[in-house]
Amino acid sequence: MSFNSLGLSEALLKAISEKGYTKPSPIQEKAIPPILEGKDVLASAQTGTGKTAGFTLPLLQILSQGQQLRHRPVRALVLTPTRELAAQVYENVKDYGTHLDLRSTVIFGGVNQKPQVRHLRQGMDIVVATPGRLLDLESQGEISLAKVEILVLDEADRMLDMGFLRDIERIMKLMPKRRQNLLFSATFSKDIKKLANGILHHPVQVEATPENTTVDSISQKVYRVAKAKKTDLIIYLITEGNWKQVLVFTRTKHGANKLCKKMISSGITAAAIHGNKSQGARTKALAGFKSNAISVLVATDIAARGLDIPLLPHVVNFELPNISEDYVHRIGRTGRAGASGEAISLVSGEEREYLRDIEKLVRLRIPVEVLEGFEPDPNAPNTMPKKKQQQRGSRRSSPRNSDSGNARSKHRGSNDQGSRRPKRNDRRSDNRNR
Ligand code: AMP
Repeated sequence: MSFNSLGLSEALLKAISEKGYTKPSPIQEKAIPPILEGKDVLASAQTGTGKTAGFTLPLLQILSQGQQLRHRPVRALVLTPTRELAAQVYENVKDYGTHLDLRSTVIFGGVNQKPQVRHLRQGMDIVVATPGRLLDLESQGEISLAKVEILVLDEADRMLDMGFLRDIERIMKLMPKRRQNLLFSATFSKDIKKLANGILHHPVQVEATPENTTVDSISQKVYRVAKAKKTDLIIYLITEGNWKQVLVFTRTKHGANKLCKKMISSGITAAAIHGNKSQGARTKALAGFKSNAISVLVATDIAARGLDIPLLPHVVNFELPNISEDYVHRIGRTGRAGASGEAISLVSGEEREYLRDIEKLVRLRIPVEVLEGFEPDPNAPNTMPKKKQQQRGSRRSSPRNSDSGNARSKHRGSNDQGSRRPKRNDRRSDNRNR
């Protein structure tokens, strides 16, 4: 199938060809036609499948063909869980809309709101936003959602994980009831289905990759290793293998910093990316990684979510995630767009149970290797300490500690995630450290 046959306008086809895309990805093939018909869409797609163009292209087409009011009210709203993803989606909106007369902007927390307000006051057709800052600006009267025709919830599963449900519900109330709704999510838990049922009307369901299966082009491997030897092992693998672009996942922000420091002192160029880093530091780290100035990006799950780093050859789980689905998201960062990639996990005795859960989820036995000099500790307990066990399965983050790391707003006396009070459940969660 070609982009021509999807019913997209000349202006969009021109922008697509300027991006160098020759044919639509499966999710684009499936999602674009029903969106152009004005239907609600429930899409199962991970980052890396081309999902952003899947909703952005038809959204731009619909808006450019509709009636444009002089004061340019917001007609399309794209909600994303993190500022990085918001920035990326916005870049896509600008790129694909380059030959159209539509205005767009991005708003997220953690940065001064003044430039965002200045843009909004000019009148914007499309706004890409994280929920907290959007609600802040709305309550200040800087943005109205009363004319929104199309709503996109991108990475809806992660938005729920990050405790945005109440913010999403508040945002829904600010928009007209009659509108087109598009919900994109990598996984479909009961909570996501419930959210979708409440928002979407008779949605067309589209799917890019089957739920929770790992992509064939990714080769997966486990190194069994003593916990105390993990840092040496990862440094060995990176230097011996001469790896140039590696995304490393740690469970905590502190762990990311510590590992990053050790790598730097071993002569590896590395940067950490997590919620305690300023927006400037995060943008700089990502830009450095993309331009190959930095070889290793050490990230926590939430910070890495949605990062668009094409053709990433190596993903390393320095620690296995305690939530099995996160493993699928993590390794989805390699082997993208048909390229091959390698996903490596360093697994200590304590993490064996996590590994079993992951293998169950992906329905695969992951090959195990032990490297000489980096053997596992025979005396390691084969489960996590009790405290961490309790944290398993608790995905919700405390909004106060959310890794999207947005600044507190004086106006609302809350952080960028909205004015939610942490629930009892949230306090148990270890997401706050991720
Ligand atoms: P996404 O899943 O939206 O984050 O997109 C992943 C990557 O695929 C981005 O770098 C896009 O620029 C790229 N991409 C999107 N659509 C296509 C396409 N049809 N052909 C080639 N690359 C694409």
